[in-house]
Amino acid sequence: MKVHLRVFVEVENLGKAMNALTDAGITGFYVLEYKGMSPQDWKGFSIKEDPKSAISLIRDMATDAVLVCSVVEEEKVDGIVDALTESLKGEKYTILEVPIRRIIVNYGDQEKVERAETWLLEKEVECFYCGEKATQRIRIDTNRAKIWCTNCGAARHYTIKGSEKGAAR
Ligand SMILES: [Zn+2]
Repeated sequence: MKVHLRVFVEVENLGKAMNALTDAGITGFYVLEYKGMSPQDWKGFSIKEDPKSAISLIRDMATDAVLVCSVVEEEKVDGIVDALTESLKGEKYTILEVPIRRIIVNYGDQEKVERAETWLLEKEVECFYCGEKATQRIRIDTNRAKIWCTNCGAARHYTIKGSEKGAAR
């Protein structure tokens, strides 16, 4: 089973939390900024129900905090939690472990995926056309490359052989 690990920390501890998570072997994460109040701070409050006072109370009282979320294998959770408690010793934090029943991922349309795989490089060399030493821009798509000169604009196109479409995915 996979677990959705949610780590609530104050902004100043984000770096510590991220390093601990990375060292413990998480492979991906997302971060959300939020305003929060812990149950201890909240206890005893009653707010007027008009939106204005509710919002101003939250502005004044709530702490800036960050939520770091990651999806991890269940076997890895204990190790990650140990690493977090070690590095966040003495700080305020909350960790939630939420079991995941199912994950559905949609990669969007193919075209977008390919665009994301485009590489752009620059190299200053003698141009094959104008002969000037000028920056040559190199753009590499999944199976094509284009090199063009920023001085004269001359371009060359290449087809990259042996890069089977989709094979790397
Ligand atoms: Zn040129």
